[in-house]
Amino acid sequence: MRLYNWYHEHRRDLPWRSTSDPYLIWISETILQQTRIVQGLPYYNRFVERYPDVQSLARSSSDELMKIWEGLGYYSRARNLHIAAKTIVDEMNGEFPRDYDTIRRLRGVGDYTAAAVASIAFGLPYAVIDGNVFRLLCRYFGIEEAVDTAPGKRIVHAKAQELLDRENPGFHNQAVMEFGALCCIPKNPGCGQCPLHPHCVAWRHDMTGLLPVKTRKVKRRIRHFLFFLLENETHLILERRNGNDIWKNLYQLPLVETPQALTREEILTHPFLCELAGQGQAIVMEITSPYRHELTHQQINARFIRVFQENLAPGENRMEIKKKEIPKFAYPVLIRNFLDKLQITGREMI
Ligand code: SF4
Repeated sequence: MRLYNWYHEHRRDLPWRSTSDPYLIWISETILQQTRIVQGLPYYNRFVERYPDVQSLARSSSDELMKIWEGLGYYSRARNLHIAAKTIVDEMNGEFPRDYDTIRRLRGVGDYTAAAVASIAFGLPYAVIDGNVFRLLCRYFGIEEAVDTAPGKRIVHAKAQELLDRENPGFHNQAVMEFGALCCIPKNPGCGQCPLHPHCVAWRHDMTGLLPVKTRKVKRRIRHFLFFLLENETHLILERRNGNDIWKNLYQLPLVETPQALTREEILTHPFLCELAGQGQAIVMEITSPYRHELTHQQINARFIRVFQENLAPGENRMEIKKKEIPKFAYPVLIRNFLDKLQITGREMI
């Protein structure tokens, strides 16, 4: 009851809170994974304006969908939404599934999203457990088991399911998540104003900074990318990322990945440039300093090499586009920022 009173008073007015449409809830929960609301909200608004229902999403082209998702990161979310939308249209008569297990089987849907859609849209008794809920429950009950271990997860899941308000699971889940996001925050939680503090173990034992416990540190893979901007006055070369790797289906400048960082001299004698020179005139105009780009599990060190070629030869899996067509394509943020910077600094990109 205390939590509900708090939620009534403090909850943010967000578009997906005023609907029970499973499609809209699914889209909002997917966009908000690993994403702050302030960043995800404009994407949500653009997404549902362009794709107001599962049919329109299923009909979309991959390029258009990626353009809408551009800059949000974790692009597999968009690809999975697309595949799941086609499954709903092709195999379920376009009707969003109404039970947890079928929702959970949709491409890209995990326990969290399935529980959110099932409880909020259909009132089914499934507790949602995201990072906010983990933190709140570990602190409130003083759970010291590490939350990134199987036993820790089991304890929190059991607690969350036990606490669930079965009469009103959707409302309950949203209240708990919002409380974790706004009051029981990772650093400096608002314990002074917290309506739960009389019974909160972490607060009573001065352990809010110690809970939840995590054991594993994320291991980062370090990668070295050389992006070649092959251009003449009016055109440049792009390639589409394929394969099972980051940024799949986005566009980039031709890429060479190297096992370690190369010096300027090593770049100038790299076989990729030698091959270009063999095809005709290729003038290296600029080699940038390395840009560091951080992803959750990877650190990308990228350098951009601008090469002028009067006669561009795209080669396999690449295409030549007019410079004025640059904005039509969806790029990883790293590439987008580089291209934008070139335009801002007046290097005759368009
Ligand atoms: S008292 Fe502090 S740590 Fe405990 S639930 Fe409230 S905000 Fe979280």
